Amino acid sequence: MKQKVKLWVRDVEEFFFCPMVFYFSVVLGISKDEGYWAELGKEIQEEAEQVIAKSFEVQAKEFRLESEKLGVVGKADFVVKDGNFLAPLEVKYSSKLKPWWKYSAILYAIMLEEVIKKPVKRAFIYLTEANRIVSVEIRDEDRKFVVESVKNCHEILRGKQPKAKVSKSCENCDYKQMCLEFD
Ligand code: SF4
Repeated sequence: MKQKVKLWVRDVEEFFFCPMVFYFSVVLGISKDEGYWAELGKEIQEEAEQVIAKSFEVQAKEFRLESEKLGVVGKADFVVKDGNFLAPLEVKYSSKLKPWWKYSAILYAIMLEEVIKKPVKRAFIYLTEANRIVSVEIRDEDRKFVVESVKNCHEILRGKQPKAKVSKSCENCDYKQMCLEFD
């Protein structure tokens, strides 16, 4: 079924992190402080581009992707050649891979498939702080999880109650106080 409302990949990434974060930031529109890190990201992206160009044949940069099926739009940082296939590549300013980034990369891969009408086998994440490129296989179970998560996001937008995902990440969560007060 086609979704009328379009979500951004970064909105769905909030859901991957925690459905309550998606609810506070996307549904209620309570923004968190991006500040320093958002600005730093833009600068480092330029440096990262040089590293990526040495490792891959870059086909596109900031490539807009739109999925009619999922009702999601986004911009892949890069689209690169992966053997006979294409793959999205995301740049993250960290030394460690976070699970929610992996799922966002898979979402980009699914969207890329829909746009180019060809299979996408992998996605890549460049971790600038480790100077490491991680390869993410698009496994069936991960694909299913990502598609189900997007459906859940649309349902929460339509009024479904979100569920908190309590984890060690709660400690540094921007919405911790609101979450405690949420009934
Ligand atoms: S405090 Fe934890 S459960 Fe609450 S919104 Fe943040 S990450 Fe989710």
